Order: sequence, then C-alpha cells, then structure tokens
Amino acid sequence: MDYIKDIENYKHLHNHDVMQLRAVLFDMDGVLFDSMPYHAEAWSQVMTEAGYNFSKEDVYMNEGRTGADTINTASLAQFGRLATQEQIDALCKAKCEVFDTYPPTPRMQGALELVQKVKDCGLTPMIVTGSGTPTLLDHIQSNFPGLFDANHIVSSFNVKRGKPYPDPYLLALEKGGFKANEAIVVENAPLGVTAGVAAGLFTIAANTGPLKDNVLSDAGASLVFPSMQALCDEWEKLYEALK
Ligand code: MG
Repeated sequence: MDYIKDIENYKHLHNHDVMQLRAVLFDMDGVLFDSMPYHAEAWSQVMTEAGYNFSKEDVYMNEGRTGADTINTASLAQFGRLATQEQIDALCKAKCEVFDTYPPTPRMQGALELVQKVKDCGLTPMIVTGSGTPTLLDHIQSNFPGLFDANHIVSSFNVKRGKPYPDPYLLALEKGGFKANEAIVVENAPLGVTAGVAAGLFTIAANTGPLKDNVLSDAGASLVFPSMQALCDEWEKLYEALK
C-alpha cells in the first residue's frame, strides 16, 4: 500500500509543508477496547423496548455521539421531535444498567502492541473518547499500564460538544501542546472520523465493526485498515512514510 500518496494528499488538502509526527490520538470504544458489540446490544435493546426502531447498525452509525445526542437523533428521525430530558435520563440509565450486567470489556486485539510501538517511537499516545463512565481511567490504566498519562485523556467530561464536532480532538491538541500536522487520529466510527478530519488531522480508520469500509472512507478517513491488528502490523511502514 502506498501510504506516501495518502499522506501527500492530506498535506496538500490542509496546506501543510511537512508532517512532524509527535502524537497519536486514539479513540477508545472499538479501537482500544472491543466494547462496541456490548454497546450495540445494550442501546438497541433499551431503545427498542422504549418504542424506537433502533437496530445494532444504528448504534454503529451513531457511535461517537453522546447518549443524549444519540437519543435525540433517533427521536427526530422517528417522531420529528427531540426527546424530553426525562426520556433521555431514563434511557441513559437503563442502557447503563444493561451494560453493567455484561463482563468487563476486553482489550481490542493488536491495541496494546500498537500503543506500545507508538510509545517506543518516542511519540505521545492520547485517548479521545465520547465515553464518560466514572471508572474510565481505572479501566484504561489497568489494561494499558503506564502508557497513557491521565492528562492525555479527553472524555465526555471535558467537552460540551462531542463527535462529530471537532471539539474533542481540538482539545486533545491543546492539552498535549500539538499542532494539526504533529498528530494523527485512529478511529473506528464514521462520526469519529468526521470529527478527526474536521479538526484538520490525518485520520486513519480501523474497521472493527460491521459497517462497510466505504462508510469510513466517505467520512474522510485517509486510510482504512480491516482491524487494529492489521494497523499494528503495518505500523513500521506507516511511521516511515509519516516521517
Ligand atoms: Mg469508537
């Protein structure tokens, strides 16, 4: 695969003379953790019980939005109006209750090895997620020990507007002290890709879910890999091309 061409296209589009890679911004669900099947099951179950037509595929298409945004998007599409705050609170609570009955989410295959490689290259790994569970930090530290600085994690606690807005990625750049041509994004969801691209970042997709590759490239991903393991296996080649 000719990564050079994709990188040149990105630089041209965003008016960068050079790439000076210093950081890799990882999305969390579906990238670092194999958690999306659980989220898809829990959301579709709870929404269906509440009278929405909301399939697992809908969950994947909305991945990256906050819970409230997800519910409002479904409510607008089906009933032509936003959900009430009471409906949002009840649905979010019900979803969390279902989710909490599942076993802890496992690490995505290839994720630990890739983050380690990134760190070994002298780059800063960061996490940019729409998730906001209270145990987020513990879960990250126990699965990726010593790899992510607590200061280098952006979650739904930190931003008002989540993905697909660029805000979470822009905040990550600010927190890390990086410019757009100094970081790349690794995402699995179309709205996450949209957010990375909107922040002006070279955005790579790892297609770890059921959506077609073109959904991710249409959202603006410069490269689409079939899995995190595949991206991990190609890392040396990609890093060489990014230098
Ligand atoms: Mg994701």
